[in-house]
Amino acid sequence: MSRKDYYAPLLRNWVYPLAQRLQGRDFHTTMNAALRDQFLSSDEVRELQFQKVSALIRHACQTVPYYRQAFGKIGLEPGDIKTWEDFKNIPILTKELLRVNEESFISTKPDSALFMVKTSGSTGTPLKIMVGQRAALRANVSRIRSLKWWGIELGDREIRLTNTGLSFERGWRKFYSDYISTPMRNMLMNRKYFSAYTMTPKMMQEHWEVILEFSPRYIFGFPSAYTIFANYLHEKGYDGREANLKLVVTSGELLHEWQEQLITTTFGCPVADEYGSVEAGVIAYSHPCGDMHMMDDGVIVEVIKSNPGDEYGQLVVTNLDNWGHPIIRFNLNDLAKTIRNGHDCSLGIGLGILEGLVGRSQDVLRLASGRIVYNHYFHNLVKYVRGVKQYQVIQKKPDHFEFKILPEGDTFNHEQEIYIQDVVREHLEGSTIVIKIVDNIPRDPSGKLRFVISEV
Ligand SMILES: [Zn+2]
Repeated sequence: MSRKDYYAPLLRNWVYPLAQRLQGRDFHTTMNAALRDQFLSSDEVRELQFQKVSALIRHACQTVPYYRQAFGKIGLEPGDIKTWEDFKNIPILTKELLRVNEESFISTKPDSALFMVKTSGSTGTPLKIMVGQRAALRANVSRIRSLKWWGIELGDREIRLTNTGLSFERGWRKFYSDYISTPMRNMLMNRKYFSAYTMTPKMMQEHWEVILEFSPRYIFGFPSAYTIFANYLHEKGYDGREANLKLVVTSGELLHEWQEQLITTTFGCPVADEYGSVEAGVIAYSHPCGDMHMMDDGVIVEVIKSNPGDEYGQLVVTNLDNWGHPIIRFNLNDLAKTIRNGHDCSLGIGLGILEGLVGRSQDVLRLASGRIVYNHYFHNLVKYVRGVKQYQVIQKKPDHFEFKILPEGDTFNHEQEIYIQDVVREHLEGSTIVIKIVDNIPRDPSGKLRFVISEV
């Protein structure tokens, strides 16, 4: 039995709405609308999106220098967007365009005070996004609504297993952050942070003891961090089900099927995957029906294929609530198969369904011939190799790879090395692969662990 939580209702009904109010956000109104709108029909959802996007485009044309110029160049007036076809004629925005024109994307008349958020820069170039209060509230509301699908209520005890457990401050700021502001905020929010950066056996032992003592309803974190933690629990012979978790939420990295299975068997609870980005907020969330629903009342998601016959297309997103730094038809560099109508949901949610999300396209390797290799190829390969604890594949040239291997015990040997080289040569059009035995696989600057990286 999990420990009774007397604070959660207080946080849910008073502390959280009040904290949002102090930032100028009307939590109850937006939350109630979101709870209602998730049951709209597909047509009604499209209508709601169209109203919101028309207003956003008008605002962007009038107050955002970049859009005024870009739309002007193609002779587009705000009133010209009368149908979805018109919307689809708006040019696609890239990360590079956002970066180069940083200042000119900011509205001269934002609808609220803005705060700055930096993207993680997994491509090596961090990006600054200014977020308005309405967009920030929307992201919170989308997450709270999705967690409710899984029986998690706002204010329930939470542990976060992400990058944010470490302070990068120095001097008195570090003291203030480590001992005053962060602990206070976490206490008020009924949560604790574990850093995915420091998953040493000693830390994981401490984490396990804290989990048993704190008794969180759910944990939120990177799939790779759970994988390491689950393996540790198995090694020590601990039963993860004793944590009595209702849900594990994964975010920030692509969730592989084997990871989902490992987490489910270790903790004896379902796994929900959250998909989002700094530019767009929360974009899609797993639902108990088995599909991933898009947060259609806050974003417009498109899957754009270069050829109609392609299996996967680029994910392009429009953030409907950020009037401070409008993001319209932004290419996230992620891939998905298709979008389906919400009414396929067996549990009555009308929000659209995002199918076949395969994550960052920069983690998708393109061979010299143009053929695409998805990162799960390497996971399947590693399943046949003994003694690999962790790995990372880096594509150095279209036909040349580096395979970093963190071995487990001494079962990884020359024979295994030859096996990998042979299989890769055969499967990947004669590509060569160099094996490097390492004692550590570094995380990227945001704390995420990437299995497959393309430098091509
Ligand atoms: Zn559903």
